[in-house]
Amino acid sequence: MQVRITVSFPYEAPVSQSLFDRASVVTPGGVNSPVRAFRAVGGTPRFMVSGAGPYLTDADGREYVDLVCSWGPMILGHSHPEVIAAVQEAVAHGTSFGTPGAGEVELAEEIVARIAPVEQVRLVSSGTEATMSAIRLARGFTGRAKVIKFAGCYHGHVDALLAAAGSGVATFGLPDTPGVTGAQAGDTIVLPYNDLAAVRAAFAAHEGEIACVITEASPGNMGVVPPLPGFNQGLADLCSENGALYISDEVMTGFRVSKAGWYGIDGVRPDLMTFGKVMGGGFPAAAFGGRADVMAHLAPAGPVYQAGTLSGNPIATAAGVAQLRLLDDAAYEKVDAVSAEIRGLVTAALAQEGVAHRLQVAGNMFSVFFTDAEVTDYERAKAQESFRFTAFFHSMLAQGVYLPPSAFESWFVSTTHDDAAVERIAAALPAAARAAAEATA
Ligand code: PLP
Repeated sequence: MQVRITVSFPYEAPVSQSLFDRASVVTPGGVNSPVRAFRAVGGTPRFMVSGAGPYLTDADGREYVDLVCSWGPMILGHSHPEVIAAVQEAVAHGTSFGTPGAGEVELAEEIVARIAPVEQVRLVSSGTEATMSAIRLARGFTGRAKVIKFAGCYHGHVDALLAAAGSGVATFGLPDTPGVTGAQAGDTIVLPYNDLAAVRAAFAAHEGEIACVITEASPGNMGVVPPLPGFNQGLADLCSENGALYISDEVMTGFRVSKAGWYGIDGVRPDLMTFGKVMGGGFPAAAFGGRADVMAHLAPAGPVYQAGTLSGNPIATAAGVAQLRLLDDAAYEKVDAVSAEIRGLVTAALAQEGVAHRLQVAGNMFSVFFTDAEVTDYERAKAQESFRFTAFFHSMLAQGVYLPPSAFESWFVSTTHDDAAVERIAAALPAAARAAAEATA
């Protein structure tokens, strides 16, 4: 693949490269999460050393406007002083007790207060744990085995949920992954996203066997592909008609697209929900919750086992509580506005160069598909000209704007993306759009 890059500051990253070389000796692929390795776009992954507001600084001392925001969590920008202060206050008292603590109660209360369908919540340490546990609970509650998921939706690296997953699985074009046995995946039914008829047919074909339908509340892991009007409500209705649970995965959208996440936008009531990212304030905190009668089946209240040594960790809960309390209506208005501004700039620059593209939006999350056609499912997402994204990405990187290193990921902004940050993005876009226009497969 040929990528033309318009360089406006030194593009080489020798310190990052040497860290990557060292990492590649001791860590598979040199990274601890696959998309970070830049394999979809090529080049040297940037090793970051600090973040402040909308900026990241890499090990070579170069500053970037960050449009990844740690894949969503940093909605208040990096190193928010009040979040840092809350963490410093908590850490002074110790780092982990393995007992219940006040911070867990506060974080659970913050979540329950914001999201009406969540009557009870259990804290865990990652989004993967949240979805894995929600599926187990749904199976334990219903006494059924089968799970419906959608192609292109990513719910973490849960064995049963990796089939046709988005995110890194989409980035690398993997159909599924070795290491997941037929038994682990055999009860997973994968259907095309936004296709209610397919869901109806699956319920008819497997009457009395389906424990739950799990869906991203609004998918962001095959790029941003919002549910068509009525899709989520249709899922909720089909689940309730068939005695299955409707699980809305809000790990990405929760507390990001509104105070009550995607539920705050479409109001469709799930039986169970999963959360992560924003609720941890940059620390490993996640959760699943929902109907009290379902949650009552969870140990020690009920028979479905679930546990975690670091669940409800005091530092993570302190960061999460501080971040959630700062996320008032004004904060979301700010994030929504800057998201709209950046979208407008991106689309204008690409249009100027005659590049076929679609900007798809879910609240303040968005991504660019290099195609003319509306993208409503994973097949259409994969049909885009992603080689154009590669050229676009590298031009932006060379000009100090850090985009997700894959055409299949959402872009994220924060309350700290101010005029100065937006101006830097605006200045970088014309060359990046030109690079996209000139790119060849
Ligand atoms: N669910 C969704 C919708 C996600 O976007 C992700 C991560 O990107 C997960 C689950 C898994 O979360 P984690 O990476 O914290 O395990």
